[in-house]
Amino acid sequence: MRLAKKSKHSKPWKILKRKIAKLHQLIARQRLDWQFKLAYHLFSDVSVIFIEDLQIANLVRRCQAKLGGNGQFLPNGQSAKSGLNKSLQDAAFGQFVQILEYVAWKLGKRVIKVDPKGTSQHCWQCLSKVPKSLSERWHSCPECGQELDRDYNSALLIQKIGLLSTQEEDITSVKTAVMASLTEESRALP
Ligand SMILES: [Zn+2]
Repeated sequence: MRLAKKSKHSKPWKILKRKIAKLHQLIARQRLDWQFKLAYHLFSDVSVIFIEDLQIANLVRRCQAKLGGNGQFLPNGQSAKSGLNKSLQDAAFGQFVQILEYVAWKLGKRVIKVDPKGTSQHCWQCLSKVPKSLSERWHSCPECGQELDRDYNSALLIQKIGLLSTQEEDITSVKTAVMASLTEESRALP
């Protein structure tokens, strides 16, 4: 039963179209319901949740537009990166963030957003740069000896930057945290 197989605006086409619309509505409602449950569950024993700011991530990760000699756009790999699946995932996550913020407000709790730039490439403990490709799933810091899962390192770093941002106004990202720790170090020198 495919909509494309029915002749357009015929009665069977209209009935099937309405059924599909209902199904989409049902899925959207179920997702919303599940996202609210998840948000309340996550806040059940914490008062603050730190998250990567997706809007900043989009700006940071978007490929530069490439222009050809005649001013035409050349392929830059962006469309391959952001397929339909990716944009649906982003939309669902964006909706979840809104729900998370609403639930936080309802409960008198907080959501703190952190610039995700560099959170996978720095050590959460000492902030040293530890470059790794996407396929490297382990964080091993040559500076301070931290050994842990790559994503867990990122999560701890996001939490650290988020906490710092509540204490120091000028710390909002890994970069500003690194800069702040460097000035602190130079102050400590004799
Ligand atoms: Zn380290």
